[in-house]
Amino acid sequence: MVESLPPNPVSGVAEGPQMAKAVDFHTHAFPDGLAAKAIATLEAQPGNPKAVLDGTLGGLLRSMDAAGIETSVVACIATKPEQFPSILNWCRSIASERIVPFPSFHPFDPAALARIDAVREAGLKGIKLHPYYQGFDMDDPRLLPIYEALQESGLLHLSHTGFDTAFPRIRKCDAVRVLRLLDRFPRLRLVTTHLGGWQDWGETRRHLLGRPIYMEISYSLEFMDDAAARELLLGHPKEYLLFGTDSPWSDQKRTVERVLSLGLGAEREAALLHDNARRLLGRTTT
Ligand SMILES: [Zn+2]
Repeated sequence: MVESLPPNPVSGVAEGPQMAKAVDFHTHAFPDGLAAKAIATLEAQPGNPKAVLDGTLGGLLRSMDAAGIETSVVACIATKPEQFPSILNWCRSIASERIVPFPSFHPFDPAALARIDAVREAGLKGIKLHPYYQGFDMDDPRLLPIYEALQESGLLHLSHTGFDTAFPRIRKCDAVRVLRLLDRFPRLRLVTTHLGGWQDWGETRRHLLGRPIYMEISYSLEFMDDAAARELLLGHPKEYLLFGTDSPWSDQKRTVERVLSLGLGAEREAALLHDNARRLLGRTTT
């Protein structure tokens, strides 16, 4: 895996005064031998977009260099319980200064609680769950022990929120469910994706905006005009905004440029693009 990476993956970062250093809190990549098939399978699902990268880690690192991204969280999704060991192994093998892998277990894996321990013991920072791809509602009572264990573990919990491109528009992880979850587990280190809920931003405005709830912005700004984007990004506490792209499903450089075009102000831009993410990931880099 290491041999396939560019010889100097940090070259090109932050070249030029206009290049912001950013942390991308939501990306995907696959092992080299699986990437082409994984991307083709996902692209073939009705509603899904075309990938802008080849799905490999090398492709992601080149995109990061071009966009001035210092670190990317690479999120996995276990669609079956038995995938966990290979996901964890891969995540351990790719963890680096620039790549922060979030493995995934299946919530109906009988060993789910032990999986949480394994992730923590591996020294990884968080996990990803996806209610649509994993077939559960965010507030499903069967997941209570899992949320309890996640809260106690201190791991970050990146959860898909809102609707999903590839699934019927039946709410499974909407803003109301986010509030319900955080009411019950106030110390859960939850990061909602797609600005609080993909294609359900009325609910984000109604229930999440202005509250101390982490929202990363991936794959959302491209569905809004500047006024709507500014309303959400200026209406939320700046300490709770995170940059994200959902790469390879959208372009990192273009997303950075869109954020910088919105006139959010230097402090809010810095908080959103890197400060909050560095703090959550325990990074002290400047
Ligand atoms: Zn994603």
